[in-house]
Amino acid sequence: MISDLVINISLLMSFTFVWHQLFRKNRLTMSSPFYIKIVDGILAGLLGVILMHYSIGVNNITILDLRHIPVILVAFYGGFLPTIISAVVIIIGRFLIDVNFSSYVALYMIAAIAVGAGLIVRYMKGGPWKRWTALLLYSQLIFSAALYIVVDDYSTVLDYALFHIVSTLIGGYLTLYFVDYIRKTSERYYQYKENAQRDALTGIYNVRSFDAHYNRIVKEAIEENETCAICLIDVDHFKQINDTYGHQAGDEVLKQLAELLSRLTRSGDILSRNGGEEFSLLLPKCTVEHAKEIAGRVREAVFKQGFLLPDQTKLQLSVSIGVSAFNPVEEKGEALFHDADEALYKAKQNGRNIVCTSWECSYK
Ligand code: GH3
Ligand code: MG
Ligand code: MG
Repeated sequence: MISDLVINISLLMSFTFVWHQLFRKNRLTMSSPFYIKIVDGILAGLLGVILMHYSIGVNNITILDLRHIPVILVAFYGGFLPTIISAVVIIIGRFLIDVNFSSYVALYMIAAIAVGAGLIVRYMKGGPWKRWTALLLYSQLIFSAALYIVVDDYSTVLDYALFHIVSTLIGGYLTLYFVDYIRKTSERYYQYKENAQRDALTGIYNVRSFDAHYNRIVKEAIEENETCAICLIDVDHFKQINDTYGHQAGDEVLKQLAELLSRLTRSGDILSRNGGEEFSLLLPKCTVEHAKEIAGRVREAVFKQGFLLPDQTKLQLSVSIGVSAFNPVEEKGEALFHDADEALYKAKQNGRNIVCTSWECSYK
């Protein structure tokens, strides 16, 4: 019996681990889309069926196992829909093993567990462990009642029943601990990954992400024989803002500027803060003419926008923008950034608040 318990718990753990790996980015929650709830319900049902195949035989028609745990697990995380689906799969699986009085009792038992678990999750208040305990006790109560119905002489199977109750509690708590642990670990992993790609002040991509996107966009341009472009955007006389209004006001301006630039960015374009008051806009599948147009619009929008400082002062700001494009036929990828940097230098030399390429500036 102990080995049956170990097998059941090991199956629960290994299955839920693979299950979680498959749906790492689409974990089951109360607000998951329909298809996720359906797929998770089916998987929970399949896990229940697998557990049934590794069960403790009580007599020749009655089996005990931990099939109710996947049912309450999807109830716990996903609510009614996946619970009912898992129950249906388990019922079908039970009838495929054999059709007898015991399997009909199992039908009502799993249906009662699914409906009750759905109600507990929906209406019971309290922390996760309290609700999980309620789910374990309720499902075990129904399972024990079913055992009582199918077994004539209950005293002969009392050992089995007690063992089953202990198995449910050990298996149940271990399962929730394990599932909760891997869910939290991967949530944190994605959070840290996201943070590592973003600039802490403005929330847009940081220079590390810029490098990765730059290499990707140039590589795609070469492979698809397309042009791509870049705008390097630098705030004019930003040091004066810090000196006059303080560093915090400078930070506020950078945040508002990042918001404005984000609004002007098309999907697929990559906006980053490359450091200090320097931003960049990577433009895949874009010619130099189009990039100049975009840069012109950015320059104008920044100049027109009033930036609000913490002391409610409205500040006019200007940016200088260096533009360059990469044509895979005639140039090397590294030249793209270098040319834009040169163009930006030229914009500063030519009086600021202006858009330049390395060969000309557009005065407006
Ligand atoms: P130019 O028109 O030539 O670009 O002049 P500038 O003053 O904008 O350029 P400079 O490179 O001389 O100064 C940039 C300033 O940006 C200096 C630095 O203190 C400030 N700075 C860099 N990072 C931050 C930041 O995160 N927050 C704030 N508030 N200021 C920053
Ligand atoms: Mg500057
Ligand atoms: Mg600068």
